[in-house]
Amino acid sequence: MNAPMCGGIVYLVGAGPGDPRLLTLRGAEVLREADVVIYDRLAPEAVLDLSPSGAQRIYAGKRPGSSTLDQDQINDLVVAHAKQGKTVVRLKGGDPFVFGRGGEEAQACARAHIPFEIVPGVTSAVAAPAYAGIPLTHRGAAASFAVVTATRREETIEQLARIGAAVDTIVVLMAAGRLEETCATLIASGRPPDEPAAVVQWATTSRQRILLSTLANLPSKAAEADFGPPATLVVGRVVDLARELSWFGSPAEADAGASGTVG
Ligand code: SAH
Repeated sequence: MNAPMCGGIVYLVGAGPGDPRLLTLRGAEVLREADVVIYDRLAPEAVLDLSPSGAQRIYAGKRPGSSTLDQDQINDLVVAHAKQGKTVVRLKGGDPFVFGRGGEEAQACARAHIPFEIVPGVTSAVAAPAYAGIPLTHRGAAASFAVVTATRREETIEQLARIGAAVDTIVVLMAAGRLEETCATLIASGRPPDEPAAVVQWATTSRQRILLSTLANLPSKAAEADFGPPATLVVGRVVDLARELSWFGSPAEADAGASGTVG
């Protein structure tokens, strides 16, 4: 990328799902050059520590229900630092373009004529199933997957119902606290209530937990076992493979009502 007149540049970096070793080499490279790191709540501490000791660290995380800075303020902050000629790393959990609002921050840079680079990250949408031993497109069991977010917004609920009817494996982000509505919507879209479903919390970290159940039973089992954020829901026949392929951390907590069927 050509150096801009002001010399500033913005790197929108995906920090990966939790384990700092899942950061890309390019992500590590640009962090080492950072003057400023503007980071989110799920950006791992050890990844932040790759930035020079003199680099400024600014927390821009949001908590469910409240937020430190709104999206416009974050966009302005990123652009303002780059305009001062600084190398800005905007560090986000997972991948910046998967439910990460990286698109809006890139637009803010583009509109302010600030050069930027997108450094993709390992999204939790893929890492959570991988660390739970769930192959998203296992041959014979699934030939497609979709990534959606759990939300109370009407149009997204309708979209979830459409996707439920159309796609083999469904990965739902921001699922904690919304399991009940999400699973009910999927059942209403025609998916069998006894279809395998799993929730994976804190995937790739030492706190990882997995609950294996069915669409109908998962919400109550997850509430009993206190599964909170960050958690990813995976629904589909491939979820059963976790019984054989779960490889990381403590064994999956299986609901006795859920049975293995995928060969
Ligand atoms: N851009 C991020 C997603 C941001 S939305 C990405 O690509 O991963 C935040 C959601 O991601 C959480 O609500 C949760 O559903 C999921 N998530 C993030 N880290 C996770 C983890 N370690 N384990 C399980 N789910 C995770």
